Amino acid sequence: MSLENELKAIIRDVVDFPKEGIVFKDLTTVLLYPDLTKKVVEALANAIEDKPDAIAAIESRGFWFGTLIAQHLGVPFIPLRKKGKLPAETDQIHYDLEYGQASIEIHKGHVQKGWKVMIHDDLLATGGTALAAAQLLERQGAKIHSFNFLVHLSFLDAGSLFKQAYPAVPLNSLVNY
Ligand code: AMP
Repeated sequence: MSLENELKAIIRDVVDFPKEGIVFKDLTTVLLYPDLTKKVVEALANAIEDKPDAIAAIESRGFWFGTLIAQHLGVPFIPLRKKGKLPAETDQIHYDLEYGQASIEIHKGHVQKGWKVMIHDDLLATGGTALAAAQLLERQGAKIHSFNFLVHLSFLDAGSLFKQAYPAVPLNSLVNY
C-alpha cells in the first residue's frame, strides 16, 4: 500500500469540529503508530533534495512533525506561536482566518539572514496561516525554501494562491483530498 493510502486509512474524520460544517482531519491517530510516524517524518524531510537551513512550524499541530523533521535533517527548529506565548522579544503578523483573525509570533534573532527555511504545518486548508508564516519569516531575513504539509485539502484550492505569491517555491504534501 502507498504511504498516502496507509495514512488515509488511519487519519480520522471528525464531523462538525470545531464547528458545524467542518470535517476535521484528526492526525492524533497517526501519532499512535511510531513506525508510521517515522515513515511520515522521512517522507516529509526528503520531499526536496536540497536541505533547508531550518524548519519553522506553526503552533501547535505543526510542532508534532516539525520538530521531528528538523531532528531527522539535523537542522534548527523555529516555533511560530500564537500571540503572547513566546517569552522574549518577538515579531508578529496578523492575518485573516475563514472567520475572524489570528496572530502568530516568532522570536527575533532566531532566523539568520539568508537562511532557506522550510515551513511545515500539519494541514493546508485555505492557506492563510502558511502564507502569513512566510511573510513573517521573510521579514526576519529568511528565504522560503518550501512549504511542507502532511495533508493538503486541495479542493479548497489554496495551491493557486501559493503559485501566485510564491511561484518558484515548492509545495509538498503526503496526503491529498
Ligand atoms: P488554513 O490557514 O486555512 O490553511 O488553516 C490551516 C490550519 O488550520 C492548520 O494549522 C490546521 O491545523 C487547521 N485546519 C484547518 N482546517 C482543518 C481541517 N479540516 N482539519 C484539521 N485541521 C484543520
